[in-house]
Parts: sequence; C-alpha cells; structure tokens
Amino acid sequence: MKSDTLCPCISGLEYKNCCAPLHKGEITAHNAEQLMRSRYSAFVLENVDYLISTLHPDKRKPDDEIVLKQTITETDWLGLQIIKHRSQQTTASVEFIAFYQEAKIEQLHEQSNFIKLDKQWFYVDGKFLPATKVSRNQACFCGSGNKFKHCHGRN
Ligand SMILES: [Zn+2]
Ligand SMILES: [Zn+2]
Repeated sequence: MKSDTLCPCISGLEYKNCCAPLHKGEITAHNAEQLMRSRYSAFVLENVDYLISTLHPDKRKPDDEIVLKQTITETDWLGLQIIKHRSQQTTASVEFIAFYQEAKIEQLHEQSNFIKLDKQWFYVDGKFLPATKVSRNQACFCGSGNKFKHCHGRN
C-alpha cells in the first residue's frame, strides 16, 4: 500500500475507507470525533466547501471562504492527535492537537464544540489550549509509525 493512499487524519486507514465518503457527502459523521477528523483532512486536502458545510449554519460568515483558503495556503499540516472525545445526545467536545510546520513545529491545541442538528454533527466553535510537551517516545503525530524522537522530533 502506498502511503499517499492513507487518510490525512492519521487514522491508519486508507482515505477511501475513512474521510472520503464524508467529503463526498455519501455519509455523515457518526460522531463528533469522526467529523473533527474529516475536517482536519479537509484542511490538508484543501476542501473549503466541506469545511463550510460542516460549520454550524449560525456560525457561517460571508468571508469564511477567503479566510479558510488563506489558512489552508499558509499552513503546512503535519499530523493530528485526538486527546479526548466527550459526547452526549446532541452536544460533544473533542480535544485535539493539530501539528503544523512553521520555522519550527507548532501546535494547534484546541477543544472544539459540536452540535447535532437533525441527525448531523456540526462544528460550533473552539477554545485554544496551551501547547503540550510531546513525549519523545510516543508515536509520531505524522502517522509514520516511528517514535517522535526518530521522526519529527529529531534534531
Ligand atoms: Zn480520515
Ligand atoms: Zn513524524
């Protein structure tokens, strides 16, 4: 299996069996974590339409497309780590860290809130959290299967 068939959300699954059916609108997310993953892959794959369609309708703004496109162009995403997923009937939160490359490796550590409307989950908003220390022995966030210290943590 070529690595470029793997889903960008670092699930270890092939894209076509992971986030692709969501991006194509064939299925909707079973839960907020799946939606969160698919939104991360949409960032990596520059799928602005999907990012807007999974945003809560009340949260959409006229300049969403421009802002998202700019974020996508400026950001070099490296990987995703889901920390915690808490879900109730119609509300959920997902804490995650999305890693990206600037002069050095940076983290977007966020707790995102989701709401289920008419059987479909939507992203509502998020709260930024401080960056955390990445353990040198943990599996690298990029999904390489190597330890962090032998992969993106090598310097
Ligand atoms: Zn995926
Ligand atoms: Zn890595």
